[in-house]
Amino acid sequence: MKKFLIAVISAISLLLFSGIAANANGVLLEYDGGTHEYTGEFYSLVVKNQLINPPLSPIIFNDRALVPVREIFEEVGAKVSYEGDTQTIKVVGDNTDIKLKINDNVAYVNGKKTKIPDNVVPKLISKVGGETKTMVPVRFISENIGLDVEFDSGDGAILIESDDYKLADENPIVTPYEDTYTAPNQLHVTDVSYAITSTKTARVTVTADNSIDSYEDFVLSDPERLVLDIYGASLRGVIENQSVGAAGIKMIRTGDNGERARIVLDMEGLQTYSVSQTSDNVLEIVTAIKLPEVAPSNTSKNETSYSPHSNDDKLIILDAGHGGSDSGAVGELNGEPLYEKDLTLQITKRVQGILEKAGYNVSLTRTGDTLPSLTERPAQANEENAALFISIHINSVDDNPEASGTEVYYATENNDDGYGITSEQFAHNVLTRMLKYMQSVNRGVKSAEHAVTRRCNMPAVLAEVGFISNPEEAYLMSTDEYQQKAAQGIAEGIIITLRNITMPE
Ligand SMILES: [Zn+2]
Repeated sequence: MKKFLIAVISAISLLLFSGIAANANGVLLEYDGGTHEYTGEFYSLVVKNQLINPPLSPIIFNDRALVPVREIFEEVGAKVSYEGDTQTIKVVGDNTDIKLKINDNVAYVNGKKTKIPDNVVPKLISKVGGETKTMVPVRFISENIGLDVEFDSGDGAILIESDDYKLADENPIVTPYEDTYTAPNQLHVTDVSYAITSTKTARVTVTADNSIDSYEDFVLSDPERLVLDIYGASLRGVIENQSVGAAGIKMIRTGDNGERARIVLDMEGLQTYSVSQTSDNVLEIVTAIKLPEVAPSNTSKNETSYSPHSNDDKLIILDAGHGGSDSGAVGELNGEPLYEKDLTLQITKRVQGILEKAGYNVSLTRTGDTLPSLTERPAQANEENAALFISIHINSVDDNPEASGTEVYYATENNDDGYGITSEQFAHNVLTRMLKYMQSVNRGVKSAEHAVTRRCNMPAVLAEVGFISNPEEAYLMSTDEYQQKAAQGIAEGIIITLRNITMPE
């Protein structure tokens, strides 16, 4: 019993010091431009026989650990510095200097080009809303600068220059959530099948032999493809490549890397898509393309049909509702008033952050506590020749604290397809992505002749994130984590839509 108590206490202290926000399934980490659930193991770090508490615990990918570079290698006397844009990291030991790049498996050891094993490359990682840490492969660096590194899986520890450290004897260190931790379940993708539902639409069904707890979908360009990653899964008996040649799907490919199974749809002209979990072990991808399929013959020779998507120059206008003397709807949090104008600005800035990080061109109608008029906001979008406009608001209703959920509006006066996509389609894209991340009540896409959206030339929507009049939702919307989820959904809805925008001449 006493031993158990010690274990629990050290689990709690590890949790506090490592500062990772936990939930039942894992922790949410941000890297590679997205939010990912980390369900891997937690290792303690012992450097020179000292247990240290880095700002971010080691992250295990592919059985290899990434650790915060500065905290670990400065501890052993190496010099850590960044070059230029901080994308290049330099670690200098006694006789060795190592140069690494973020997301690059090529490193230079004393100037000699070297491959980092298993593709476990340096990454910028943060817990959601937290400080971003430069994480580097611990064994690769340690061994190259001549440090002894050992993985003690029994004790759940990474030991650097720590021969004498006896974890088990004097200081049992356990992984956080040890009592709920179970070995990664044997999750396999067992089938990937598709149905062409019209000349423009298709459904791809992905079946696993166990419950799918964590997945992520995203779109890549050049060449255009839709990716579904199922974390903790591998493939079993799945046909690796299926030529489709219809409804814009050229090929369905599958693969796994020990961390996740990946399903890739090679697409042409994707307009919109959705991924839904139709049962514990089944995911369905529904795709729709913009144009009827191109005849499959010769497409492989016709490279021009894969013209690069350049998103970068199209302008997105983000409009944080209300501001200044107009506080918008007012709720309450811990006995203090909570103002719509503050929440809208906070979420808007998060959307801006996500989009700019991904290389998109963004303008805000307000960046502080000011009140542009309902005429000025769309006028700015029209004058700057924006491709998309989105206004972000928080809902409220009198006398019904139960009302909750997310809805997205478009104006029927601004719903033609002069930009290649209608405001209504834009609204659908934003809403589905918001619901995916926020898991809020779906109040649907609605039309209303809001001043800001109907006066825009370009596709324009107004998103009501949630209800400030609902105490639970008001609290959620005040949290970093929920704001980031809303922002991620909005940003992805914008990105999907932007790819189908054709600016009028
Ligand atoms: Zn409002």
